[in-house]
Formats: sequence, structure tokens, C-alpha cells
Amino acid sequence: MSADISRRRFIASAGLAATAVCLVPQRLFGDEQSLVMAARASGAKTKIATQTLRGNVSALIGSGGNIAVLPGSDGKLVVDSGYLSSREKIAAALDGISGDPVKHLVNTHWHFDHTDGNEWMHSAGATIMAHENTKKHLSTTTRVDDWDFTFPRSPAAAIPTEITGAEKTLHLNGATVALKYYGPAHTDGDISAYFVEADVFHTGDTWWNGHFPFIDYSTGGNINGMIKAAEANLTMVTDKTIVVPGHGPVGGKAEMIQYRDLLVMVRDRVAALKGKGKSLNEIVAAKITAAYDAKWGTGFVNGEFFTKLVHKGVG
Ligand SMILES: [Zn+2]
Repeated sequence: MSADISRRRFIASAGLAATAVCLVPQRLFGDEQSLVMAARASGAKTKIATQTLRGNVSALIGSGGNIAVLPGSDGKLVVDSGYLSSREKIAAALDGISGDPVKHLVNTHWHFDHTDGNEWMHSAGATIMAHENTKKHLSTTTRVDDWDFTFPRSPAAAIPTEITGAEKTLHLNGATVALKYYGPAHTDGDISAYFVEADVFHTGDTWWNGHFPFIDYSTGGNINGMIKAAEANLTMVTDKTIVVPGHGPVGGKAEMIQYRDLLVMVRDRVAALKGKGKSLNEIVAAKITAAYDAKWGTGFVNGEFFTKLVHKGVG
């Protein structure tokens, strides 16, 4: 398959599946176009679906990471800002929810598929809030080895100006929104957003519903932190909680348990083989994820790539 066909197929599937576009293995694109550039371009073609959740909270699904929206007289609170190339579609979807301007933007972490829309949302009136490590990565040149991409410093208007710390509680639009830092997990700046009265929980990229997750070792992520975050997420929810993952469909506790168990299984088996002195190639050849690849590896992190990401963080 040529790189060009791969890229077009990826862009088409990103538009249809509205899923984890930040994870396309670099090899699909050869030297033609990086996965980051292809993912950004996909945002121009993707469709944005507005999903009404509960208690006035909605989710916009389809441009990069999933976006949560709380409208009201204090101005909209938006969690993550999608791709810049989806600006018109995201703006239209936001207008479709209510006429309130976007006043408050929370970034769950620094990745481009969650922050590329920061600049326009700020120019539309939003104050941007994030963990200090998110601000740090957006404020400087940052390389992600596993995407083979170096991000330049973000424009000043895209950089968060309010820092969340370990925990921060917002009172907006008649609702309570609890922001909480995970510690190093998917990156070193991940925070969750819990809409208390609605019982709606946005996990950022600590949870990928039905997809193997990316783990960004370049900016402080690691598999053990991902598992710790998956455990922490389970303590935050009941069977009734509506949970917005960073990628994949909106779900709940049952799917989060499956995800946690899968991460633990792969981590433990990779660690056991590595402990016996097996090489990375031998561990990949053991096909630890085989029983899960058909379901979990159909997005953009396949079982082999995920196994390699886990291998980096054990032993
Ligand atoms: Zn991410």
C-alpha cells in the first residue's frame, strides 16, 4: 500500500470514526507527511457530532480529543479545543448548543489534538486554564519522539494563563466543576474535569474507550502512571456516571474497568518477558495483545505499537 493511499484512507476513516487520530504510526506516511500534519489536515474534513449528556453538559465528538461543553450565563466552559482546521465546525456546534460565548477553556493536557483550537477560542473571549506542565510544553519547543515531530512554541494567545494546581474547583453557570491533576500518566500534565451535579466526568487522554492508548514518554507519560490514572478514574465514578474519554465514544464504569484490566495485563506480561531477558523483538513476537487487536487495535495504535510503548516503561 502506498503512503498516499494510507494517508487518504486514514483521513477518510478519521472523518467517519471520529477517533484517535493522534496515533497513526509514522510509518504509514513514510517521508511524505508526518502523522501530526495528516491528523491536523483531517480536522477540515471531519464531522462534529453534538451529544447531549446530562445536566446541560454536552460533548462534541469528532475533532481530535473529545470536547465537553457547559453553557450558561457565565459564558461557556469548554474542555479541550480540537483541531484548528475544524474551527468553523466546532464554532457552529457550540452555537448550536447556546448563544453564550466561550469564556472558559480547560486543557486536559498539551497535545495538539486537544489544544490547537486554543488560539481562536482565546480570541473569541476564553481564558485558558491548565496544569503548569501543559503551559510549560505549549510555551516552548517540544519534541514527541514517537510521533517523530517537534512542535514549535505555541502563539502567546494559545498559552494557558490560569494554572490549576493539584485541584481546582470552578463555580460556573450554576454548576460545580472539579479539576484534578493525575500526576504523570499520559503526559506529565493530565487533568480531569468532573461536572459534579450532572455527574459527568471528562478524563482527558487517561482513558481511551475501546482503543489502545498512546503514552507520551517524551513529556513525562509512562505505562505505570496510565494504570494509576485508570485506577484513580474508577474511584471517581459510579455505575451512573457518564464518562467522556479523551478518544472513543462516551461510556462509563464498565468500559473503564475493561480498559484498566487490559493495561494491567499487557504491562504485567511485557514486564515478565523483559524480566526473563527477552528482547523487544521477542516480546512483540509473543503477540500479547492478539486477543484484543481486532477490537482495540483498529484505531490508530495497533497492538504492536502499544506493546512497544508499554515496553519502554517497564523493567
Ligand atoms: Zn493526548
